[in-house]
Amino acid sequence: MGSLMQNIKVIAISPGIAIGRVLRIQRLNRLAEPNASTIPEEKVESEISRLHAALETTRKQLQELRSTLGAKLSAEESGIFDAHLLLLDDRMLLTDIEKHIREEKNSAEFAISRSTEHFIGVFSAIPDPYLQERAADLRDVTGRVMANLTEEEVARPSLDDRRIIVADALTPSETVQLDCTKVLGFAVETGSATSHAAILARSMRLPAVSGLPHEVFDKLRSNDIVIIDGVAGRLIVNPDARTEEAYRLKAAAAGKLIDELGRETELTPETTDGFKVELAANIDAAGQYAEASKMGAYGIGLFRTEFMFMEQNGLPDEEAQYKCYRELLISAGERPVTIRTLDIGADKVSGNVYRFTEVNPALGLRGIRLCLYERRDLFTTQLRALFRAGVSGDLRVMVPMVSSVQELIECRELIRQVQNQLAQENLEFSSRVLFGAMIETPAAALSAGDLAEYVDFFSIGTNDLVQYTMAIDRLNERVSYLNRAASPAVLRLIRHCVECAERKGIPVAVCGQMAADPAAALLLVGMGIQELSMASPAIPLVRRAIRSVSMFDAEQLVERALRATDDDEPMKLAEELLQKHAPELIDL
Ligand code: PEP
Ligand code: MG
Repeated sequence: MGSLMQNIKVIAISPGIAIGRVLRIQRLNRLAEPNASTIPEEKVESEISRLHAALETTRKQLQELRSTLGAKLSAEESGIFDAHLLLLDDRMLLTDIEKHIREEKNSAEFAISRSTEHFIGVFSAIPDPYLQERAADLRDVTGRVMANLTEEEVARPSLDDRRIIVADALTPSETVQLDCTKVLGFAVETGSATSHAAILARSMRLPAVSGLPHEVFDKLRSNDIVIIDGVAGRLIVNPDARTEEAYRLKAAAAGKLIDELGRETELTPETTDGFKVELAANIDAAGQYAEASKMGAYGIGLFRTEFMFMEQNGLPDEEAQYKCYRELLISAGERPVTIRTLDIGADKVSGNVYRFTEVNPALGLRGIRLCLYERRDLFTTQLRALFRAGVSGDLRVMVPMVSSVQELIECRELIRQVQNQLAQENLEFSSRVLFGAMIETPAAALSAGDLAEYVDFFSIGTNDLVQYTMAIDRLNERVSYLNRAASPAVLRLIRHCVECAERKGIPVAVCGQMAADPAAALLLVGMGIQELSMASPAIPLVRRAIRSVSMFDAEQLVERALRATDDDEPMKLAEELLQKHAPELIDL
């Protein structure tokens, strides 16, 4: 690629820093196009048998892979293999392939290739990221079948030293097969932070970025050195000696500090003058509780339940949800667990749930709007499962994307109906579950005083609050320069919410990414927020930040930040305070 350093803005999908030589791979399933070969009539049956033998081998490989990886996989990850196994048995796909063999005398390879392209074409015609992920799964599975048919060795990267994988895309099974002892991280062209590959990378703790420009991927060669910054979302190609050294130092210091902070999980998160803050965890699957607890989380502040609804093997029914929520509540014991009802919409799209497409889904029938006005059936089932599970612990339920009092009134009415129904059916349920609203729209923040009449708590989702306040798509990197949670406009909305909540005597938590940033967290604490919820690995960092400052300092910081006219000023002030009291946390 030439030796000139390039520093490229990409999308961070899994945190950490990786530095190393490139291993450039084309996708595992991008096997050579099979020839449009035909077979003689008398060979049709043996061709069909050959197809079934390859399907069987693939099935065994996938089952073996799932059981070897067994304990390493979360339920969600095992679900990916289950979904691949289901695709192997898909009647529609199989019938289509057999039809090409029987009627058009195509070879099995060519028949598979035609059917795969046909179904991918159908998926791709619908602008739905969920279906696009399914297309990737289909390619993954049929690629394997093809490899077994041709008995070709699947193009697995051979790694003699630890490398950074640079690929056009990685499928879930490719990602999970990456050997963590040989792979340092990866950079891909496509795949959002909610793609299966991103979910797996985070659970494997591999730094990763996506959004790699195609022309960069094209030019990268095995001798190129790259740095992946999975926190800031940067890819540095052929760094100069100074940059490389700076990143190496940063990575080493980060590792050392993270070990040290990991030994402080028992310390109370309180300011030097005794203001206590509860630090909770954000999770997407009940199985992640153990990790949260290890990081010192006091309960769960946000369980994003929509991921359960995005699995390929259909929607979870009441019983499956009840078991999942109950398992989580039992693991948490007396600690609070806040479960958010289904937040499908915007970037979190599910073909299972949607019956329509929208031009602008972020401003469409998302979250509570979808639950109340389009999929009340799913919402009712979820509420039933939640209230039944509620007897097993300290459950709080909150609804996302609230923008009006009317929505809360309708929710409360539905809750009343669901509880009556459960009572009539003689099913055990909890009527003491607290009910909260997420504050994610400027409308909700500005009407917080009115909303407070209908809820027991607020939880501020800064990711969306910023998106809707600044009018920027949170996935669009072109406008990411405006994506600042600590801008004066957003801070004023948060402050207003806190004041309204205080007046009504209800607690306010923050569960957006802002809470996970040690400097920004000081602004939240200074505004009097008593619960911060974040991805588990951030908890030790935020604990140290809070323990380093006084509430007096944090309040002074907020006073100055709220007077700022420049969008960058509040964060600069927060970083100055952190720099003074806990410089080790800056840029971690
Ligand atoms: C948020 O918007 O800040 C939030 C926590 O919800 P999500 O990121 O799932 O939209
Ligand atoms: Mg949100």
